[in-house]
Amino acid sequence: MLDKLNEIEKSALTSLESINDQAALDAWRVSNVGRNSPLMNVFAELGKLSKEEKPVVGAAANRVKVALESALEERSQAIKTVSLAKSLEEEQLDVTLPGRTINIGRLHPSTQQLRRVLAILAEMGFQVYTSREVETDEMNFQLLNFPLHHPARDMQDSFYVEAGDRGDNPILMRTHTSPGQIRAMREYAAMNPKDPPSIRIALPGMCFRYEQITARSEIQFNQVEGLAVGKNITFADLKGTIADFVRRMFGQGARLRFRASYFPFTEPSAEVDVECFVCGGVGCQVCKNSGWLEILGCGMVHPNVLQNGGYDPKIYSGFAWGMGPERQLMLRNKINDIRYFWGNDIRFLQQF
Ligand SMILES: [Zn+2]
Repeated sequence: MLDKLNEIEKSALTSLESINDQAALDAWRVSNVGRNSPLMNVFAELGKLSKEEKPVVGAAANRVKVALESALEERSQAIKTVSLAKSLEEEQLDVTLPGRTINIGRLHPSTQQLRRVLAILAEMGFQVYTSREVETDEMNFQLLNFPLHHPARDMQDSFYVEAGDRGDNPILMRTHTSPGQIRAMREYAAMNPKDPPSIRIALPGMCFRYEQITARSEIQFNQVEGLAVGKNITFADLKGTIADFVRRMFGQGARLRFRASYFPFTEPSAEVDVECFVCGGVGCQVCKNSGWLEILGCGMVHPNVLQNGGYDPKIYSGFAWGMGPERQLMLRNKINDIRYFWGNDIRFLQQF
């Protein structure tokens, strides 16, 4: 019996040595110290032994059991240590590696600037009024005091849409956002033709001109126009509003000046320069050493235009101004070529 126990212990420990994984170890546990293992059978047979043999064999069996269990425990720990070391080795995670960049989309720089401008105008009480991009000659020119064959039209040649013989009223891509003035005034006037409500709107959007594309001119660009119509509106209101807008846009310290100018749909008309924010008025490349940057055109709405919009110029007056978000961005960021805006070059777009 004692020989048998020695045999059991020896063979169990030998087979344990070759075990390297948890599954094999579990199988070993069942066949060597499990309920039906040879060792447990020895315990079961103790009752059949004589009084003298029983304690000797019992003690030896217990010793073997303890020896096998501690060997099992030891082997189990060893396997865990090896597998941990192995996983550390093979599944190494280098936390110093830079992560994968996620490309986050963003708004086009023109849209960003457009929204900045509209946000400021909204604070000042100007509501956005969007108008169509395809217009008639009547809306785009005639009702805005550009009569047929007027030389001022030469500045704004457009793309014409073939739509049969419409005579003096062809369809075209709008050359400025100003036709929206007529559409808005007519819409507001229709609300109460006898006493039209006052208007305070911002007209944003794309405009188109038939031009040779150069660093300074594109065939498409954005404009934002402001329009205020009401009773007792004077040039002082125009100056105050523009000055407030310029300070909100370019900083409270921004200085500006008005220069007399000419536009068919405003009278009197002016162009507004802001003190060069690149050089502070000293003179630099951006302002061409003048110290001033031209940023917008403005004026009192021409009586003919008010009339065409359904507002009696004897009772109503108003002012309007227009500016280009792309031009503002070009000045601010020293962009020397307007073609970048529609060139779709990701290297340009990513900078905004
Ligand atoms: Zn300058």
